[in-house]
Amino acid sequence: MIVTHELSKYYGKTTALEKLSLSIGEGEIFGLLGPNGAGKTTTIKILTTLAFPSGGWARIAGYDVVHDRPRLKPLIAVCPQEINLDKELTAFENLWFYGRLYRVPELSRRIGELLEWGQLADRAGDRVKHFSGGMQRRLLIVRALLSRPRMLFLDEPTVGLDPQIRRQLWDLIRQLKADGITVLLTTHYIEEAEMLSDRVAILNRGRLMALDTPAALVAQVGGYVVETINGHHTSYHLVQNKEEAYRRARAQAAGVLIRQANLEDVFIQLTGERLSP
Ligand code: ADP
Repeated sequence: MIVTHELSKYYGKTTALEKLSLSIGEGEIFGLLGPNGAGKTTTIKILTTLAFPSGGWARIAGYDVVHDRPRLKPLIAVCPQEINLDKELTAFENLWFYGRLYRVPELSRRIGELLEWGQLADRAGDRVKHFSGGMQRRLLIVRALLSRPRMLFLDEPTVGLDPQIRRQLWDLIRQLKADGITVLLTTHYIEEAEMLSDRVAILNRGRLMALDTPAALVAQVGGYVVETINGHHTSYHLVQNKEEAYRRARAQAAGVLIRQANLEDVFIQLTGERLSP
């Protein structure tokens, strides 16, 4: 569905993206994971034709993001990081004006279906300013779906939400996949990338550090982590299996924690830096 080849973006002397090559299959939930400044938003901007690449190329469904822009636009939709809904208007009105702008056929019926899908039907007539953060995010996704895109870009879809509300949104994102929509998701939440993505690309400072299924990436670093807490210092040891973890833990006098490795451990191993601040 998406292919990029040595896709690059420079802002003056800043390298936002450096030779990104990847391929995303139809119906996949693909996660772009990385800290702030990694190049995630830049990647989305180029793929959604909002920014030109400085080098390399990208195609979606065979269409080049620079040269085939008019044919590409109807196939894709974006859910931006900032909630750019009109908060003085109702949920229905927000969808209505957006739908008119994009000339969505049978708009009224489509809005009804989608509000049902996003579990917002009973709040259709309420002003968006009275919605919780989670409901506003759901409405953003619903709005993006009005034009029946084949590919949806979600830029940090759960940023700032409580963990429980975040899970509700995850269910909705999984539903997108079940409905046959290809999803490219950016996030700096490790758990989100791990729970949702079929495959994850880890970016750091504009470079692709790793790309695989979350399970394969974690298996690469070992699978288990033994954390030894010594005063104010915690040391981490990655080990292959539980037995090895127990062996190492028994040999320690200080406080020890054994846990399963996650994508944060992969990131630290690859970059020597932490993913979360
Ligand atoms: P992320 O979404 O992973 O946080 P971005 O793609 O927003 O990262 O940014 C990647 C890098 O490019 C950062 O160093 C950022 O400061 C820089 N950058 C992004 N947009 C611009 C811009 N319009 N002008 C100058 N530098 C930018």
